[in-house]
Amino acid sequence: MSNNTIQAYAAMSAGALLEPYQFDAGELQPHQVEVKVEYCGLCHSDISVLNNDWGSSVYPVVAGHEIIGTITQLGSEAKGLQIGQRVGIGWTAESCQHCDPCISGQQVLCTGGQVATIVGHAGGFADKVRAGWQWAIPLPEDLDPESAGPLLCGGITVFDPILKHQIQAIHHVGVIGIGGLGHMAIKLLKAWGCEITAFTSNLDKTDELKAMGADHVVNSRDPAAIKTLRGKFDLLLSTVNVTLDWQAYLATLAPNGTVHMLGLPLEPMQISAGSLIGGAKSVTGSPTGSPAALRQLLKFAARKNIAPQIELFPMSEINAAIERLHSGQARYRIVLKADF
Ligand SMILES: [Zn+2]
Ligand SMILES: [Zn+2]
Repeated sequence: MSNNTIQAYAAMSAGALLEPYQFDAGELQPHQVEVKVEYCGLCHSDISVLNNDWGSSVYPVVAGHEIIGTITQLGSEAKGLQIGQRVGIGWTAESCQHCDPCISGQQVLCTGGQVATIVGHAGGFADKVRAGWQWAIPLPEDLDPESAGPLLCGGITVFDPILKHQIQAIHHVGVIGIGGLGHMAIKLLKAWGCEITAFTSNLDKTDELKAMGADHVVNSRDPAAIKTLRGKFDLLLSTVNVTLDWQAYLATLAPNGTVHMLGLPLEPMQISAGSLIGGAKSVTGSPTGSPAALRQLLKFAARKNIAPQIELFPMSEINAAIERLHSGQARYRIVLKADF
């Protein structure tokens, strides 16, 4: 078996169970690195791509984009990295390095040919994975590799808007939906110093969420409870993929407040212009984050001892892990340990 042979778990068609799959990745390109996978988180976007929910999947699909591993091959153009170094790879595997967003350090917004790690590219449910060197993010030594993977997608997705909206300790932030993304948002905002309100449809989680750092826990489907929060939030981070009463949530914003969309409800949002104009409010959204923000997140998480709460499965039990994610019982992120 050549050095360029990769063993993986793949879906051969939409919604199929994953099965062992081996392929030849060819010679490493000069700008790429190859990483031996140690751990890989399981994100809802993996399920969306495995099932072709977004119509862009390329089969066989090797999913997995919350990857932690060590560098085994370095292309000749790769900079600042070493063989054997531990790195993380998230949603993006490649960006063009010459479009305006790339040149201005916003590679996550690349318009010149961005490659997602699991779309037309083989991801981390494998023994090895490849990416452009800029997207291999060095892992700080004191960050636990077993639980760090989810920071590379779910974590950066909630961290980037904290940076972008210049959130400070004096701000009150609401987090809507407390699963993989939402629980990381609470932990990060706690370390950031903010007042935090968690909105969840499952109040059984209340004690856990308070232990994580939430100051208040509110039923996300209780109109009366939401109505009492009028004018409170500087930022609302929505991680849910279901439609909520967005007008009611807009009313909970403080003047100049923002609802920031991270989850993907399928229906268009119903909001009136009037609900934005009065308090100069905004609705924004963002994908994951660029390499500099990823580095900042990992350093911040290491310094503040922030680790996603995970359930560990061997990668060989990947189908059972996916079933566990579907059950809605996972607390809060599933991570697979490579056992090829
Ligand atoms: Zn993801
Ligand atoms: Zn670009």
